Amino acid sequence: MYSDLLANLNPEQREAVTLPPVNPHGQAQSALILAGAGSGKTRVLTTRIAWLIQTGQVSPIGVLAVTFTNKAAKEMMVRLSAMLPINTRGMWIGTFHGLCNRLLRAHHKEAGLPSTFQILDTQDQLSAIKRLLKGLKVDDEKYPPKQLQYFIAHAKERGQRAKDLAVGDDFQAKMAQLYGAYDEQCQREGVVDFAELLLRSYELLKHSEPIRTHYQERFRHILIDEFQDTNALQYAWLKLLSGHDASRVNVSGMGTSAVFAVGDDDQSIYAFRGADVENMRLYEKQFHPLLVKLEQNYRSHGHILDTANHLIANNSERLGKNLRTDAGHGEPVRIYDAPSDHAEAAWLVEEIKALVNSGIKRTEIALLYRSNAQSRIIEHNLFSAAIPYRVYGGLRFFERAEIKHALAYLRLLENPNDDTSFSRVVNFPTRGIGARSIEALQDAARAQQCSLYSAASSLEGKAGATLGGFIRLVDHMREATRHNTLPETVEFVIQHSGLIQHYLSEREGQDRVENLQELINAATAFIAEEGYGQDAAAAMLPGENAPGVVEVSPLAAFLSHASLEAGDNQAQAGQDAVQLMTVHSAKGLEFTAVFITGLEEGLFPHENSINEQDGLEEERRLMYVAITRAKERLYLSHTQSRMLHGQVRYNMPSRFLEELPSDSLKWLTPKAKDARWGGNSRSGSTWQDGYTRQREYESNDFFDSGSERQRPVKRVGSASMEVKRLASPPRGDYPFKIGQNVFHTKFGEGRVTGLEGVDTDARAQVNFKRHGIKWLQLSIAKLAAID
Ligand code: ATP
Ligand code: MG
Repeated sequence: MYSDLLANLNPEQREAVTLPPVNPHGQAQSALILAGAGSGKTRVLTTRIAWLIQTGQVSPIGVLAVTFTNKAAKEMMVRLSAMLPINTRGMWIGTFHGLCNRLLRAHHKEAGLPSTFQILDTQDQLSAIKRLLKGLKVDDEKYPPKQLQYFIAHAKERGQRAKDLAVGDDFQAKMAQLYGAYDEQCQREGVVDFAELLLRSYELLKHSEPIRTHYQERFRHILIDEFQDTNALQYAWLKLLSGHDASRVNVSGMGTSAVFAVGDDDQSIYAFRGADVENMRLYEKQFHPLLVKLEQNYRSHGHILDTANHLIANNSERLGKNLRTDAGHGEPVRIYDAPSDHAEAAWLVEEIKALVNSGIKRTEIALLYRSNAQSRIIEHNLFSAAIPYRVYGGLRFFERAEIKHALAYLRLLENPNDDTSFSRVVNFPTRGIGARSIEALQDAARAQQCSLYSAASSLEGKAGATLGGFIRLVDHMREATRHNTLPETVEFVIQHSGLIQHYLSEREGQDRVENLQELINAATAFIAEEGYGQDAAAAMLPGENAPGVVEVSPLAAFLSHASLEAGDNQAQAGQDAVQLMTVHSAKGLEFTAVFITGLEEGLFPHENSINEQDGLEEERRLMYVAITRAKERLYLSHTQSRMLHGQVRYNMPSRFLEELPSDSLKWLTPKAKDARWGGNSRSGSTWQDGYTRQREYESNDFFDSGSERQRPVKRVGSASMEVKRLASPPRGDYPFKIGQNVFHTKFGEGRVTGLEGVDTDARAQVNFKRHGIKWLQLSIAKLAAID
């Protein structure tokens, strides 16, 4: 019967799916499927699970599958249900974070956590760090919160606690000390950050023999998608759980579970978050996997695939493989050279209209960019042209301020010691609790080594009275909702906390009220999807009986879901809209038509990476990921000038454009091509080149994969800029002189050190006291003379 499952696979895929999970000596046998983009890795992995179950080699509870996003996990469950008559609900399929959360919930006591522990997302974590520094009276200019945040995440990703860090210079020592204090604060408040989810569950498995043995014996099959992007801690976690670490491994090194890893070294794009392609090599050495390579691509037409192959051949660090397709050449890859970012966006709109007219659905069209900041102008143009679009990784539903406020109240119902949530809503909506009262409360909490909530009762006077009112409100909401369903609880809390009334009284509050109501819908959908209902145990599969497992309340499960949710904006989910996202968030996805925009030096490849071989190769892999998302149509564009972060940049076309096979390309703007590519392009000292090097711009969000930025989904933004452009100075007539002192609203005081360009292109070089030398476009920059 299982031949049906294998019918839609080619011989190599079939071989991969049916690799023996046990070697001739009866030991668990791991596998590595190494294959390029679109070769069916994810399909093979899903079919492998179905095949193992169908052939009776494992029951659904014996499978653990790791995906890179929650969306991918959901898709995998849907596919599995279509292949087999099984209930996938309750199967352990999810992201590393999701699975670790589940483990910690089930064994919170052994993990040293309260049953109601809450998850801090990146923003919450940053506010917790700021609060810590303030409490300890640490100078946050000397120890910037963001840097500490990175320091902590980085250490945790390597499995290191503060005490494990080698003491370097004074700065490092202080950072390590702050890391320790941060962990203590989290422990006190009953909260864990993302990296902590992993580290804590790793430590749980490592230190608790019975729990480790239970899961090692249970999960005989562990399958991992996108293996190339695992970090050191995830790899260690995997080794431990599969019995490949020193404690369990037998003489032949085979471990207790068969691990099935699929990956593509050419698509490793998360090194900046600690992912390490080296894990693939380590895996080969330590797990002794059977190896299968897949080389047939089923996604992209020939020209697109040739383009991808040609590009990635420029990387030296490769495990080596190629892709072929039977799909025929298809359309050439089109390249557009725009004079400005406005022109690029206008062109995009026209092309999209033409594609839609030719019958392609909008959801099948993706606009990709390297940095989130690039989307603003594209959004503006789509919005003006009334083309529905959806931004992934923009402001996610669960990250909106009003939703975070509501969640903070809900979290306080679960865990009153969560100081981050307490601080967020103690005076929101305003109830007359001033900054002084809060400071007094924080001092009291520090003195008594307890949470803000517990300290509130010890405060006297007016501050004590107002805080007492807040505490009573939270306690009342907890009591009143004790027997409610989850959606009822959510509804009660958004009403009684005063949030709804607050936003109703705001002029622009209607949207926020609707979002709050949407939260009730999200809770209802969550209950339906996750199988929580009258009987929370419904989500458990028969036989799921780990030692000491504790059941999780629907509210706790919902709050974790809100923290871990990969950013699907549920309100817009069903709409036929063009898809906008960073290249990072496009991983694993595919679309009929793909536009890769902003192919400019400094932007893509990103300027922080240009001077390092490794950095540049990672950028090239990112470009490879972008290209291979396309099935039938691929468009590449770049602009000669671009406004970013308040400054205009003049960039060379991306070097990646020169690494593509000319036979597969079609230039939509041949003139520009001739003018700019003639002779020695980048290496020559053209004015453009020199100019680009001097340019400087803030780049802190360039490595953003989409999860950490706050931005409204739709924004109409550049009107004021247009107006200023018209008011540009005439040829050669500059409003400033060299040597003049000027003031800029963002960069502060500086002195003009250079002037060049004409008309709208006139620009000044300014040496700012605090920000150094910058070039500013005079028609746009808010620059004023101060003497
Ligand atoms: P990526 O590296 O981008 O994650 P992948 O290797 O995981 O890609 P899949 O997403 O599994 O590739 O497959 C790419 C596309 O090819 C999908 O649409 C899939 O359904 C299709 N596909 C895979 N194998 C076959 C096959 N044997 N016959 C027909 N279509 C296939
Ligand atoms: Mg895949």
